[in-house]
Amino acid sequence: MRADIKSMTIPELEGLLAGLGEPRFRAKQLFSWLHQKRAADFDEMKNLPASLRAALKEKASLTRFVTERKLVSQLDGTVKYLQRLEDGEYLETVLMRYEHGNSVCISTQVGCRMGCSFCASTKAGFVRHLTPAEMLEQVYAVGRDTGERVDSIVLMGIGEPLDNYENVLRFLTLVASPEGLNLSHRHISLSTCGLADRIHELAALRLQLTLSVSLHAVDDGVRSRIMPVNRRWPISELLSACDDYTGQTHRRISYEYALIDGVNDTPAEAEALAKLLRGKLCHVNLIPVNYVAEAGFGKSPRRRVLAFQQALARRGITATIRRTLGADISAACGQLRRDAGQRREGRAGDAQ
Ligand code: SAH
Repeated sequence: MRADIKSMTIPELEGLLAGLGEPRFRAKQLFSWLHQKRAADFDEMKNLPASLRAALKEKASLTRFVTERKLVSQLDGTVKYLQRLEDGEYLETVLMRYEHGNSVCISTQVGCRMGCSFCASTKAGFVRHLTPAEMLEQVYAVGRDTGERVDSIVLMGIGEPLDNYENVLRFLTLVASPEGLNLSHRHISLSTCGLADRIHELAALRLQLTLSVSLHAVDDGVRSRIMPVNRRWPISELLSACDDYTGQTHRRISYEYALIDGVNDTPAEAEALAKLLRGKLCHVNLIPVNYVAEAGFGKSPRRRVLAFQQALARRGITATIRRTLGADISAACGQLRRDAGQRREGRAGDAQ
């Protein structure tokens, strides 16, 4: 196995390089080639001795991947990338353009094992965790492709970030490193389906991340039906973990609520949501659910979405209706990857 050097901190690189008989200062030089100059090849690393470059070429990996498909929205400039990883797996990355800058939505796993019934990412199953390097490289690849700055990152693509906790934490350390992208945690949002134990752990670290919580229902019966994670961590335990997060970090939590026609979108449910969130430092994002073929769920009609928002507002809860970006290149999260997998299986089938 080659050393995953793009997932390593400077002190770890110092250790690795010491083993190759190199002085400590080389670690910072290497880190900068990986995370600031973002070399495509070890030969570019001109200030490293040729012998070291040769050793790294043999022993270390640069974790680069190939853009298999790129879709650009004609409506709002959103870009979706389907990337092929070194082991042939696929991931998706999305660039969203806002007035306040460029935001990159990254995947944290190949597939997902949370099983939410409305979500395309989980339909094709779980394959593996992404490495910190593979998460960083998604951000770097967008920067390379567009030549533009990345102002914020959301961990909201394929996968459950808190199910890949160690690698995600390492990613968060590396991305904020002054010798790397130097992006403040205040510009990073992490979205979770609600692994309450991990939320408590994260709270204790007091990082300044924005936590987005995919709530999507107000009673345990409905939530367990559409989100199996709720059977392990019911709403009351999830919300108390969220309170812990706010208590320790003083950060406002963003609750995501996907409105599904006839499943969770009545005025009574809006009222119950307001009651659950009363007095909390939070914001609600209402998302008309994206259609996913196998799920059989449809978007709530516009008037019901507006009524839901108004019912929340009347009870003092601010909610925004999420604007759909890239509607013309639609493919909700996970759909490009799933289609690529099906094409691959199709090809294999043809060959038989
Ligand atoms: N696993 C994490 C992050 C990835 S999903 C999480 O669950 O939060 C990112 C967001 O998209 C979540 O809020 C998720 O519930 C939502 N989502 C998934 N499928 C959707 C769909 N078909 N329509 C609307 N939102 C969806």
